[in-house]
Amino acid sequence: MLVEFGRRKLFGVVLGVSLELGEDIDRSKLKPVLAVIDTEPVVRPELLDFLLELARYYLAPIGEVLRLALPALERSSVEDLQEQGVLGHAVEAVGRMVQYAVVQHAAIAPDEVSGQTLEVWQTLSSQTAMPISALEKQHKSARQAVKKLALLGLCTIERREQERGVTALEWSPDQRPTLTDPQARAVLALTDALDRRTSQAFLLDGVTASGKTEVYLHAAEHCLKQGRGAIVLVPEIALTPQLTARFRARLGDAIAIVHSGLAGKERLHMWKQLQSGSFKVAVGARSALFAPVAELALICVDEEHDGSFKQEEGVRYNARDMALLRAHRAGAVAVLGSATPSLSSEAAVRQGKMTRLKLPARANQKAVLPKVTVIDLKRVGAGPSGDRFLSLPLYRALERCLAAKEQAILFLNRRGFAPSLVCEGCGQFVQCPHCSVAMTLHRARGERLVCHYCDYTIARIGTCGRCGSDKLSDEGVGTERVEEQLQKSFPEARIGRLDRDVAAGVKSERVLARMRRGELDILVGTQMVTKGHDLPSVTLVGVLNADSALSLPDFRAAERCFHLLVQVAGRAGRGDKPGEVLIQTRQPEHPAVALAAQHDVAAFTEREMRERQELGYPPFSRLALIKIDAVDAALAEREATRLAALARSLASPAISILGPAPAPLARLRNRYRFRFMVRGNDRAALRKVLLGLARSKPRGDVRVAIDIDPLSML
Ligand SMILES: [Zn+2]
Ligand SMILES: [Zn+2]
Repeated sequence: MLVEFGRRKLFGVVLGVSLELGEDIDRSKLKPVLAVIDTEPVVRPELLDFLLELARYYLAPIGEVLRLALPALERSSVEDLQEQGVLGHAVEAVGRMVQYAVVQHAAIAPDEVSGQTLEVWQTLSSQTAMPISALEKQHKSARQAVKKLALLGLCTIERREQERGVTALEWSPDQRPTLTDPQARAVLALTDALDRRTSQAFLLDGVTASGKTEVYLHAAEHCLKQGRGAIVLVPEIALTPQLTARFRARLGDAIAIVHSGLAGKERLHMWKQLQSGSFKVAVGARSALFAPVAELALICVDEEHDGSFKQEEGVRYNARDMALLRAHRAGAVAVLGSATPSLSSEAAVRQGKMTRLKLPARANQKAVLPKVTVIDLKRVGAGPSGDRFLSLPLYRALERCLAAKEQAILFLNRRGFAPSLVCEGCGQFVQCPHCSVAMTLHRARGERLVCHYCDYTIARIGTCGRCGSDKLSDEGVGTERVEEQLQKSFPEARIGRLDRDVAAGVKSERVLARMRRGELDILVGTQMVTKGHDLPSVTLVGVLNADSALSLPDFRAAERCFHLLVQVAGRAGRGDKPGEVLIQTRQPEHPAVALAAQHDVAAFTEREMRERQELGYPPFSRLALIKIDAVDAALAEREATRLAALARSLASPAISILGPAPAPLARLRNRYRFRFMVRGNDRAALRKVLLGLARSKPRGDVRVAIDIDPLSML
């Protein structure tokens, strides 16, 4: 509905209706509703209940939470909406209309069907519907064959709107693999729970390339058979078109791909299709959690350990945690899958809140887990190229890999050319004028210094701002430098790079597609190369510096480093050829490194759980991080001190308040940052403190954010 708010006209969402007016309400302050926009509820009760609960849990305003769930209402002005035909119920045709062959009876084809027609039928009947143009790509005479099949009543030809978005590009034929025994057991457990129609949570604990996606697919298919819906959350949708293509190939076109790259219209289109029930499955990154799927029966969270499920701005929700909540409230089944389960999941399994389903081996019988070698950079020198980042064993391994015409991935946690520019005269490094961090040197598009936190950019400077020396040297190694040096060492090799600098839009997909087609020999990249890609010809993975992930001031640093190493190692040897992984480090004895090298997830988990318990960190306690920042350092500190004192006054003895202290990143975008932590096990007592803090109005120009179950401590 439309309401007047001051001089502006704003959208409102009716949360409830009361027929009587309470005594305490001042009638003169009530305002009429200007217009009712939707006559049907825009959020179904299941979703609305969940949103209210989420708002309560994160102490977030319900309006902001609703905006996450209602992309259709994102526009600020009514005019804008009218122009686009959104106001009123004008359903616009977003896509192009194309001819689809739609399967009528997925039974075995009668004897009249043979030859080419039979081949077309086999492709088509593995799906529910396919565009004829897509069939033609695989079978020359597809159009003729479809006509024949239609005459036999096996399929119909319909004009439908073609889906858009990333996956419309690929209609790969669906090969339905035979399930391994562990996969079959996992599928059975899930379909069983779906048949019982009660809520249950599962941890799909499977090594890399063990076929977790196949398990999600079977479960989702089972939902569709029941006429119910499913949500599948993946960490980086834009980077995993293969995964979405597989879903589409298997589940037909009743699926919506939701990702941030969607334009407003496309997003709205998806939303409407889901809301009306014509799409039953939503696949997407964290925001797909709010997809208005009808009769929700299943939520899968792939790579549940991944930090990208946490939103770090606005409503700071964690889609992984909230998937469990939504499933629970909807009476749906939740499946959290990972090769490196988070400690929260591990704790939930131990408490009996989650059932573990194990996939102990790779699905492809020939694919074994790669052999991992740890290279101690304190002892092993550089290879013949003299590059500090390329040790002799890694250099030799690359040579072998290239000679065998196989592919390699090199992982480094730093983008740019060099992480800092240091004055040789006085030792000062060039710092961002707005943040307390070193500026990174980039060369790919001219010599620039870039702040990776606020994106402030300047041309490379020639003299030190402190002592005037003109001897400035670039320190450290970033992905650009690795790419450049590798090209010198291996001039014949075709080298690609994948990091945030190349990832704008379709480009990253292009790099990955070239890798898949075998047009690249070496791929250098940041975390992006670790995320679930299935590149079967990759036999060598090199981790250039495992230490950078360990040095962060965060109690989860070891866990994250371990996950990263296991995941990146998991990219090697997924096909028929065995893989090899080399990890370069100065801390070879660190458990995160040593146990990742042995693929020993259980031992690492055990060790880390013990440590967390001793220190009283999650999953053995609950945390909230109170973040305070202001342009004026003294003001920020004063407010942090005041709020921490308030928290102490509200806290029961079971709650501890740690801090305040300057944040590890003490200044960001011109604002000085302080923080303190509220920790405890008693939910009610914790909530009392947090509510008190949320209600206390900050004094002066200070921003306060309450991050509940924080993932980042920076
Ligand atoms: Zn200097
Ligand atoms: Zn900056």
